Amino acid sequence: MKGLYVHIPFCEHICHYCDFVKRVPKNKEMIDTYLTALQNEIESYQDHFQSIETIYIGGGTPSMLDVHQLEHLFEVLKNIHPSEYTIEVNPESYSIEKGELFKKYGINRISLGVQTFNDQLLNYLNRKHTKQLVFDVVAHLKSIGFSRISIDLIYAIPGQTLEDLYQDLQYIKDLDITHVSCYSLILEEKTYFYHQYLRGKFEQMDEDTEAKMYEIVMEELKKQGFEHYEISNYAKKENYSKHNLIYWTLGEYIGAGLGAHGFVNGYRTQNHRALPQYLKNPIEEKKFQEVDVLLQDELIFGLRKIDGVSLSMIHEKYGIDVFQKYPQLQEKIELGLIKIENDYLKLTEKGLFLGNQVFMVFI
Ligand code: SF4
Repeated sequence: MKGLYVHIPFCEHICHYCDFVKRVPKNKEMIDTYLTALQNEIESYQDHFQSIETIYIGGGTPSMLDVHQLEHLFEVLKNIHPSEYTIEVNPESYSIEKGELFKKYGINRISLGVQTFNDQLLNYLNRKHTKQLVFDVVAHLKSIGFSRISIDLIYAIPGQTLEDLYQDLQYIKDLDITHVSCYSLILEEKTYFYHQYLRGKFEQMDEDTEAKMYEIVMEELKKQGFEHYEISNYAKKENYSKHNLIYWTLGEYIGAGLGAHGFVNGYRTQNHRALPQYLKNPIEEKKFQEVDVLLQDELIFGLRKIDGVSLSMIHEKYGIDVFQKYPQLQEKIELGLIKIENDYLKLTEKGLFLGNQVFMVFI
């Protein structure tokens, strides 16, 4: 199975926490020029088209492209026939016409950037939609036949209370969607919040409340019938993100667009993050993946999945015994962070929140 990730690095506004590769475009021509370069890059991978099973158009904000620009992009991709075809959508840039275009070109999964339903917190994050708009967009998507809708949520936002979080989870229930990705707010460098932090104007949520919130998310989504299948991801009725599963199982994927990463034929690719360089030649670096790094990724990504990682698979693929190579794992078992169940090494409930303490063992 192979994936294709396509990056659209444009946003109408910049959220205060975001460190993704994105910018506000100067004008329409800037986007058009980018799309032409992106088309060339995607077409350079034509030999792989038949084997691509998932497409994920992410950003940035892909839905901020106008209808003609979206059509340009979808035309470039139309000779690929994936079983899962996702586009990221921000509620404020959605329109009935765009929804219909998604349908026409075979997109079958929508990832909606919501983050929270609390209008005050949305304002604090510098998001430009409202709770009502999310409900309207989901209603329209469903009315035209989209059954696979994922929502991104953020918790541990400074000022957010446990009640606020319960309320957000209640709205998830009301929307009756099939997938949720839920991450805690991370203070990243080069963001507005980071500047505020350096000036003493941003205080991160304390770790105990954050842990409590993670517990609430897990419990409430489970009650709603979601399966917790990766540290931050939940799905109903096996509506897992196939595309993300490719990343987590070290499958192959092509990364196209500004700053995109790929993993093809054993090579990791990294595209330029600066637009002028990307327009000249997309790939900044391409290097063969050393086996030690592969093993590291296999263990870290494998442990992010709730099912964990098969010890016999690791032995077969890498010829090692995990506990001999990483004796510190024993201590993590004693601390109650990991466990072994039927050949699978997995994080415990406590370990899910403190996963980084385990991942450090492999780095
Ligand atoms: S979070 Fe999404 S919408 Fe906000 S700036 Fe980042 S990429 Fe753009």
